[in-house]
Amino acid sequence: MSLLLTGGMGYIGSHTVVELLSRDQDVVIFDNLANASEAVLTRIEQITSRKPHFVKGDICSREDLEQVFSNFNIEAVIHFAGLKAVGESTEIPLSYYHNNVSGSVNLFEVMAKHHCKRLVFSSSATVYGEHNQSPLVETMPTSATNPYGQTKLMIEHILQDLAKSDPQWSIVNLRYFNPIGAHQSGLIGENPKGIPNNLLPYVAQVAVGRLAQLSVFGDDYDTPDGTGVRDYIHVVDLAKGHVKALNKLTDLPGCHAINLGTGNGTSVLEIVETFKAASGKDIPYQIVPRRAGDIATVFAEASKAKELLNWQTELDLSAMIADTWRWQSMNPNGYE
Ligand code: NAD
Ligand code: UDP
Repeated sequence: MSLLLTGGMGYIGSHTVVELLSRDQDVVIFDNLANASEAVLTRIEQITSRKPHFVKGDICSREDLEQVFSNFNIEAVIHFAGLKAVGESTEIPLSYYHNNVSGSVNLFEVMAKHHCKRLVFSSSATVYGEHNQSPLVETMPTSATNPYGQTKLMIEHILQDLAKSDPQWSIVNLRYFNPIGAHQSGLIGENPKGIPNNLLPYVAQVAVGRLAQLSVFGDDYDTPDGTGVRDYIHVVDLAKGHVKALNKLTDLPGCHAINLGTGNGTSVLEIVETFKAASGKDIPYQIVPRRAGDIATVFAEASKAKELLNWQTELDLSAMIADTWRWQSMNPNGYE
């Protein structure tokens, strides 16, 4: 029996592949390489001394999916595949709805046809919208402020309906907070195309000299130092959360939303200071106006994951930043 990881060549997927292979699981990666490099495969092999199966395919293609489900005996799916840039989603919303929502429906239909009804889905803290107060709890009302967030919310709703319609489904929607860091080997990490949108890859590229300076989006928020506060989580902890969720699926029928976060908030300026200390590099920055759509403070209530999955984070902020820096300095141009 194999596990299928859609989007398994990407940032979070590749770290999860490593965790699964090191637990002797048989892994099939299904990815169209829209936002990933094939070099990831060699790196995974270097870390684990094992080779996952790789199928180049698109979740929007029924034929591609049918083929992989016919060729492998898939017992469960972790569904990472999707487009994830918030800004881009407002410019090309139809591409986001097509790729993320239609592609996911395709996947769920093919899974049902092949009697594979165990699923872990990559959701996001973005589904808490802008009106809830942190710590964010799974029972809070959800909403979305951009097309990317809408796709996550729509898929969560589709999965709730699916589980209601057929009790054989076991589904966990993992709501990630802010994944950062990289594998300790420095061999795999986040590799954004073009200028990064997210804070950590931007800071890392300033530290390595690829970008001149960081723009800090606002210092007038109602937070201890005025800059935005987020719940940063080490990608290896996040990957381990997927292993725990997968193991739980066998005795967890229905559809469940679970936060994966640390429960702690860190400001932009704290990130800059920690990065400076870890890298020994200066991180020049300037304060610029707030970024549209940003909220002051986002962090998780993390107890449900502990109770239900027996999972909690193990790696602290200094490990997250040290590992980000190791990845960035060993691979100044990513996988190129
Ligand atoms: P990523 O872009 O590195 O990985 C996504 C992978 O999916 C890529 O390898 C890409 O090539 C692949 N893909 C995209 N469309 C596809 C398609 N139609 N068919 C097959 N493969 C396709 O992103 P990531 O950071 O690893 O995120 C993984 C998932 O987690 C995404 O669904 C993302 O929305 C979600 N998520 C990410 C974050 C974050 O901050 N990184 C936060 C919350 C949720
Ligand atoms: N941020 C920033 N400059 C950047 C990118 C991000 O000041 O170039 C801030 C942003 O306003 C937020 C935090 O860093 O307070 C995290 O932003 P990111 O885009 O990484 O995550 P998200 O906002 O989606 O949680």
